Formats: sequence, C-alpha cells, structure tokens
Amino acid sequence: MAFYVQKYGGTSVGSAERIKNVARRVARFHADNHQIVVVVSAMSGETNRLIALAKEIQNNPDPRELDVMVSTGEQVSIALLAMALKALNVKAKSYTGPQVKILTDSAHTKARILNIDADKILADLNDGYVVIVAGFQGMDQYGSITTLGRGGSDTTGVALAAALHADECQIYTDVDGIYTTDPRVVPEARRLNSITFEEMLEMASLGSKVLQIRSVEFAGKYKVKLRVLSSFEDEGPGTLITFEENENMEQAVISGIAFNKDEAKITVLGVPDHPGIAYQILGPVADAGIDVDMIIQNVGHDDLTDFSFTVHRNDFDNTIRIIKEKIQPHIGARDVIGGDKIAKVSIVGVGMRSHAGIASKMFRILAEEGINIQMITTSEIKVSVVVDEKYMELAVRVLHKAFDLEQAL
Ligand code: ADP
Ligand code: ASP
Ligand code: MG
Repeated sequence: MAFYVQKYGGTSVGSAERIKNVARRVARFHADNHQIVVVVSAMSGETNRLIALAKEIQNNPDPRELDVMVSTGEQVSIALLAMALKALNVKAKSYTGPQVKILTDSAHTKARILNIDADKILADLNDGYVVIVAGFQGMDQYGSITTLGRGGSDTTGVALAAALHADECQIYTDVDGIYTTDPRVVPEARRLNSITFEEMLEMASLGSKVLQIRSVEFAGKYKVKLRVLSSFEDEGPGTLITFEENENMEQAVISGIAFNKDEAKITVLGVPDHPGIAYQILGPVADAGIDVDMIIQNVGHDDLTDFSFTVHRNDFDNTIRIIKEKIQPHIGARDVIGGDKIAKVSIVGVGMRSHAGIASKMFRILAEEGINIQMITTSEIKVSVVVDEKYMELAVRVLHKAFDLEQAL
C-alpha cells in the first residue's frame, strides 16, 4: 500500500468524459488499497475565461476579488470529480483550499503557501475516502481567498505531498513526462526518464511551463518524490525528478532547452560611467516591485556607457515610464529605448559543469543560422540568450539537433 498525491491538470479534466477518465484511474489506485489525495485544476480554458471576464469590468482587476473569482474554476472540478468517483462507488470527498486550511501569505494572485493543516485530510484517508482538494488556492490569515499564480495547482500538489508525507507526488498532464524541450514546438523532443532537481528548477524558471517553478522549489525543500506522467495513457514511467546524479542517469551534457517570450528589454543609452549608476537605475525599478532578470552593462567609453536589462513583458510600459520620469533626468542619460519582441532561449544541463565549450558551441550554432544574440547570461548549469522573438522556434530547433537531444532512432 502506498500513499500518492495525484494532480490532474486542466486538459486532463477538460470535459465530463475526461473527468470520468480521471475517476476511473483514481478508482483503480483506490481498489489496489493505495491512499489517494487528488488535486485538480480548473477545466482547461476556464481560468483564462474568468480572468477575461473580470477584465471586462476592470482593466486591472482588483487582486483580492480576482482571487475570489478565479478560484471558482477549481471548485467546479473538485465537485465534478467527487461525483464521478461516487458514481463508481468510491468514497470521495471534495474540499476547497481554504477548507483544508491551506494557509498562504496575502500576495493575491501570486500567494505563497505557508502552512497546511493535515489532520482533516488524514482523518478522511483513514476512513477510506479519496480526498479531492482544489488546486491553485488557499486562504490568508485574514480569511481572504488567495491564488498561487498560474500553474499553481502543481504547487498545491507538491505542498500537500510534503505536508502529508506522501510516498510520491504524481503530476498527471497532457504529455507523458518531461521532454528535452516542449514537444509541441519540437516534435523530435525526447522524453527523459529522469531529470535532476536542479535542472528541472532551471527549466521551469526559464520557461518550461510543464511544472510551476514553486512546485519544484517545494519538492527540493521537502525532498518530495515528484513524477510527471500522462493522464491519457495507462502505461509509462513518466519522468522522475531526482535529487542525485547517479550512473544510471542519461549522460548528456545538455538535458533540455527552455524558452519563453515573457520578457522585454530596456536599454538606457549614454549613462555616466561612475560608481552607483546600476543602483540609481535599478533601485527605483525594484522599489516599484518590478523584478529584473538579465542585466548587461557595457564597457565604458569616454566616461559613458549603455545599460540594458530585461523585465517581465507585463512590466515593460511601467518600467519605461519609471526610467524616463524618475531616472533619466537625474543621471542625464542620452536616451531610453526598448522592445518587447524578444525571446529568451536557454540550454540547461548539469553536464556543463564538467564540459568546456558549451556556450561557444551554442553561439556558433546560432551564428550559422544568422540569428543575432542580443544578451547573454550564464550560470553553472545553463546558458541563456535573448534573440528576436521571430527566431525563437528556429533557435530551439537547431540547438536541439546540434546538442543531440533528438529521439534515439
Ligand atoms: P496542465 O494543464 O496539466 O498543468 P500544462 O499545460 O501546464 O499542463 O503543462 C503541460 C505542457 O507543458 C505540455 O502540453 C507541453 O506543451 C508543455 N511543456 C513545455 N516544456 C515542456 C517540456 N520540457 N516537457 C514536457 N512538456 C513541456
Ligand atoms: N487553473 C490555474 C491556471 O490555469 C491553475 C493550474 O491550472 O495549475 O493557471
Ligand atoms: Mg500546469
């Protein structure tokens, strides 16, 4: 007998038929005497629909009320799944996040889980129930409903697995595991049997939305055994996120390629090249609660330099405004330019630690395709470049091939 937390994503519960399909899978596990907590997302498209509806009322919907609203998507799914299980004569009970006391901070629309009260769920499990919990939501200390950010049901799943000491957290989705890159963009992408936690963390933070980054962080912090599997196929090992590199691991230098179009680039031209300039530019940006990702400062020339950085696309207009109004007049920068038609493409792999020349190979492959690199950042296990967004898919495909990530024939 094992104890599993199983999370089913939006597509996997996207219709009544698919919910019945999930119920049949859960019923099989239950019949095999496993204890099961199920976390479900809203039916596919529902969260987007609700957000769009809110925007018809308010351009920038009030975050507290938006959370009250979007959390309803998951509430529908839990009830439907409980009904489907009961129709199969499986004892099941559904709960919203606040009902099982998923306590979060008060950062509406991107709240963090602080605590989960396991007692109620454990009592139901001991009574033989399948417990179904709404993903993506919780409650803050003031009793307000909160949500955990897009893709947040993954985090609910892993956090529950940690709090309840489950044997494994299984993320069921519409692909049968973690691939070398998004299989919808590169059909030749290959499923990995395992990926290290560190690599998964990089992949998630660099744009692979298959797992919400916070779910990976949780898995790392509490050493949750985490697996990604298909909800549409009955067989298959999926991909296990491992905490140690061992000899059985696939020994590729690069494990995966991540990409995203979430960022925008801003360049402050002709700024005085003296101490404190980076702080003067980025201080007010940080004060406005805007996260900065990549940063480049050129070598100074004639006491002037150019300073570039990236922010989330949603923060682009606001950042340009802050720089033009609050910073440019003070520091006397010549101009502020920017663009949001950029994409970040990253190669990730723990093998980079022991292999030289990976970054230069990446740059050569892109040069051969005539793709101009606008910015670069590296860390121990990743290299990221910013390119024009129109070259994103081409860049991913040629890198995928050049680093031998394709399906073994
Ligand atoms: P769910 O609704 O189940 O949470 P998501 O859409 O959030 O599903 O995540 C699954 C999707 O992630 C896949 O359909 C795939 O297109 C995308 N994806 C991006 N990168 C990867 C990757 N490296 N491996 C697998 N899937 C990926
Ligand atoms: N329904 C939420 C979303 O679409 C949470 C999730 O699916 O994980 O982002
Ligand atoms: Mg998801």
